[in-house]
Parts: sequence; structure tokens; C-alpha cells
Amino acid sequence: MIEESFEAKGRRQRLVSGLREKGIADEAVLEAINRVPRHLFMDPAFLNHAYQDKAFPISAGQTISQPYTVAVQTSLLKVGKRDKVLEIGTGSGYQAAVLIEMGVKVYTIERQRELFQKSQTLLVSLGYRAHFFLGDGYEGKPQYGPYDGIIITAATSHVPQKLLEQLKPGGRLVAPVGDSGSQVMTLYTRTTENDYEKTTHGHFAFVPMLPGISNGNAK
Ligand code: SAH
Repeated sequence: MIEESFEAKGRRQRLVSGLREKGIADEAVLEAINRVPRHLFMDPAFLNHAYQDKAFPISAGQTISQPYTVAVQTSLLKVGKRDKVLEIGTGSGYQAAVLIEMGVKVYTIERQRELFQKSQTLLVSLGYRAHFFLGDGYEGKPQYGPYDGIIITAATSHVPQKLLEQLKPGGRLVAPVGDSGSQVMTLYTRTTENDYEKTTHGHFAFVPMLPGISNGNAK
């Protein structure tokens, strides 16, 4: 791990206190957020804002999720050490780092080549090990499944059956479901081989989940 200033640590502790006040109660999640240097996942132009509870632009027209959103999604996954989690939408790599801090084995898919390369380089340089894929998250990664958890970090109008099928029985999938304006955080639990239970957990705003791979500047 790299050295970092006391200032960054202090700001991060204040961010974590704020998340606790907003109702995040899972101590393992809060501890992980307290350990990940979020400022290193952001464009230097936003450095001073890194520990505000806000989403910010990263490259390729995408965003790093708001810490509160990361905390809600991670809490809903209820992951334990050595669990296998598939993430759709690597983006900055921040959410993946939070999961890795919790001892999770992370498999993460990004559709934009630029972000796929950038986040992989960054996570590796920080000592965070994960399995990185350039691909279309709508397909999932059945060859590495089934998973204890699947986390979709882009807005989708529906949860593909293909992804639900990649959950272990007892596994949980969390996704913001809805159109571009606002989505409902939705948790699917695979209760048995053929049954899923669905619960909802408030409104959020994500960038859209898009099909296919992008090699260029197009969103
Ligand atoms: N988890 C990220 C949030 C990134 S924003 C973080 O912590 O920073 C959502 C990301 O999902 C974007 O990078 C976007 O390119 C990606 N994305 C959108 N549709 C996708 C798809 N079908 N498959 C994989 N990634 C996708």
C-alpha cells in the first residue's frame, strides 16, 4: 500500500461517520470504505472533493459512484470473506477495491476499453487483486460462476435472466433497476435452484448499462 497523508485519512474517517449517520450500519462495509484511498480513483481535478459523499466524473463519460451508494449496494450483498462476487461495470475500480478490502474474490467486467485498462492498472498498483474482463456485462461470466453475489453498478431496465442464473442458491444480486432518470435499488435472492425473492431499497441515479464493448470515445 502506498503512503498517504493524515489529511486524507482524517477526511475519510469523517466520510465514514457521515455514512453511519445516514444509516449505514454494516461495520465491515464501513471499515472497508475507511481503508480505500478514494482520492486515487478520481480525476486529479476533483481531488479536493474525494471524501465528499458525491458521485464524480471519471474518464469516458462515466462516474465513480457516490460512497453512500457503494455502501448501500455492498451492505445488501451481505458478503463474507472468500465469497465470489461478479461486478458489472468496473468503472474507476473503487467499488471493486471496497469488496477486495472485505476479503471478497472479485470478478469485474467493464465494456469500455479505456476504463478496463485504467482501473486494472490502478488496482494492481495499489495491491488490489481481482479478475478483470473487457466485455458485455449482460452476458455475465458463467465460466467463473456460480457467484455468491452479483453487483450491477449501471442502470438497467431489467435484470437479465442470464445473470440471475449465475448466482449460487442463497446468492444475492443487487442492481439499480429503471430508466435513465432514477432507478430502484433491487435485491434478488436466489432462495432455491428455481426461486428468487425480490426486495427494493430506495431510489438512486446511475449511468446507463449499455450493450456491447466500446473501444473509443463513444459512450
Ligand atoms: N463500479 C464503478 C461505477 C462505474 S459507473 C465504480 O466504482 O467506479 C458504471 C460503469 O458501468 C461504467 O464504467 C460503464 O462503462 C460500465 N458499463 C455500462 N454498461 C456495461 C455493460 N453492459 N457491461 C460492463 N460494463 C458496463
